[in-house]
This record gives sequence, structure tokens and C-alpha cells, in this order.
Amino acid sequence: MAANIIDGKAFAATVREKVAGHVARLKEEHDITPGLAVVLVGEDPASQVYVRSKGKQTVEVGMNSFEHKLDADTSEADLLAVVDKLNNDPTVHGILVQLPLPGHLNEDLIINSIAPEKDVDGFHISNVGLLGTGQKSMVPCTPLGCLMMLRDYHGSLSGMDAVVIGRSNIVGKPMAQLLLGDSCTVTIAHSRTKDLPEVVRRADIVVAAVGRPEMVPGDWIKEGATVIDVGINRIERDGKNKLVGDVDFASAAERAGAITPVPGGVGPMTIACLLANTVTACCRANGLAEPEGLTA
Ligand code: NDP
Repeated sequence: MAANIIDGKAFAATVREKVAGHVARLKEEHDITPGLAVVLVGEDPASQVYVRSKGKQTVEVGMNSFEHKLDADTSEADLLAVVDKLNNDPTVHGILVQLPLPGHLNEDLIINSIAPEKDVDGFHISNVGLLGTGQKSMVPCTPLGCLMMLRDYHGSLSGMDAVVIGRSNIVGKPMAQLLLGDSCTVTIAHSRTKDLPEVVRRADIVVAAVGRPEMVPGDWIKEGATVIDVGINRIERDGKNKLVGDVDFASAAERAGAITPVPGGVGPMTIACLLANTVTACCRANGLAEPEGLTA
């Protein structure tokens, strides 16, 4: 069986189109332009690329983009002051502090200083608690993107067996909460899980978020299962640099019913969901109806 390919790049383009439509309506009907502020501390090259890309896509969907670039040796007090200013700026509806932060800054402290309703990354402890108790929250972008693709492919996920490999706060745990919210029976696997292959073989849905190149081979995948590969791993093969996921795509595609590729799967959905979260935050801040299909 050759798997259907879930095209995250194309899906992300439809999400951005929807966001752009809502932004246009907000401007036309309410004279409101959603704004996203991104704070970058230091000059980590990967972070610089992400921030540039976020800024570009924010502007492309018609929103305001505010970039705050701070020196690597910025003090905690100065960073907290920047966040505080953004919290109190009515033109800013979403705030994202690019991680990782330089080692002298306490990430938890900084993230928890963001106003929860502007926390478009969904990492604030209030949003984590709201998601965990099934209440309206800001949902972390990467798991939200995975959920959107799964819902689009399957319609209802109710009653499906899902295995999430990885228990990080930014992907694994919120992913599991979202699947539970959609009435899947969820197993969270991690580095201490016993007999991972057998655990994965039971799953109708496999979400791999580990960070180990191609660690899930095809023979772990149940015939017809849906595989969402979150992993982004840079490897060298045949003398060339290559991006691969946590799943061995070629062998998994032989058994899966549907699978996301790397690149072009989950990756593009993450920024699209950041934009979706920003427009959602803007609607909530203004007491307006939330856009349909862009939230959990
Ligand atoms: P973390 O390193 O924070 O977490 C990795 C998880 O994998 C941990 O829970 C760890 O278990 C588990 N793990 C490690 N080794 C094994 C193993 N042998 N068997 C089973 N589980 C294992 O990673 P992230 O969640 O931040 O990211 C995961 C991957 O997703 C990375 O490749 C990252 O680049 C990618 N990513 C992609 C995004 C996108 O936009 N597409 C966004 C975010 C991340 P334990 O807790 O026991 O140590």
C-alpha cells in the first residue's frame, strides 16, 4: 500500500489564505489590524532565519509585524521591560519571544511574563493549564498544525488509538492533550518506554516528535495508520546535507495510509498556525467572533 502524502506546504498555504481573509475583514469591518511582536535576543543563526520568516509571512497576510532585536547580553530586567511594554500595547495582539534564550536568562520567567491572552506560542503556564483542563487557550503552534492536518484528513478522530513519541512541553505533551480533546485513546511514549515498536504498532495515529533521524522504521507502523512526522533532523548523506524526519519515510510510506513528508509536512504548518493564533488573539481581545477552523 502506498501512503497518501499529507502536503503540509499546500495545507499551510490554505491556512494563510484563511488568516488573510479574516485580517481583511477585521480591517474592513472594524478598522483593526492584528499585530504580532517577535522578540529575538542574540544572534543565533537558526533563530534569525525563523524570525525573518515569521516577519515576512506576518506582513504577507496583512498583519502588522513588530520585530524587537536585543543584544545577546540583554539583562533579564531589560527583557522583562520590553515584554511589559508589549503586554500594554493595544496594537500588539500576539507576542512571541524566540527560544532558546541566552543561558543567563530564565526562559520560564520570561515566557510567564507574557500576558496569557497574547501568548501566541501557547507556552505560558496559564495556557498550559487551560489546555490541560479542556478550556479555551492559546495552543502551541506545532501541535495545532498537526491536529489541523489530522482533522482535515480524517474528519473525526474519535476513538482512534494515538501514540505520541516524545513528551516535550512544546510538542509531545500539548499534542497528546489535543488528541485527547478530540477523543483519541492516547499513549505518550518517551526514551524510557518499554518495547516502543509494539506500542507504535497498535496506533492508528503516530506522531513522532523525538529529534532522532529516521528512528521509526516502516515495520513499526500499523497497516493503514496515519503518520505525522514532526522531527527535523539535518544529516549528511551521499556527501550532501539533507533534512529528514524522525520516521524512515520510504519504508513507513509502504505501510501507512497517510504520512507527512520532511520537509514539506509539519514544518510549514508551524508559522501558519502562529499567524492563526495571532488573528484568534486579536478577535478575542476585541470581543469578536473567532475565525472558524483556525483554533483547536
Ligand atoms: P525534545 O528534545 O524536547 O524532546 C524529545 C523527546 O523525545 C523527549 O521526550 C525524549 O524522551 C524523547 N526521546 C528521545 N529519544 C527517544 C527514544 N529513543 N525513544 C523514544 N523517545 C525518545 O524535542 P522537541 O519536542 O522540542 O522536538 C522534537 C523534534 O521535533 C525535533 O526534531 C525538533 O527539531 C522537531 N520540531 C519541529 C518543529 C516544526 O515546526 N516542525 C517544531 C518543534 C520541534 P525523554 O523525555 O525521556 O528524554
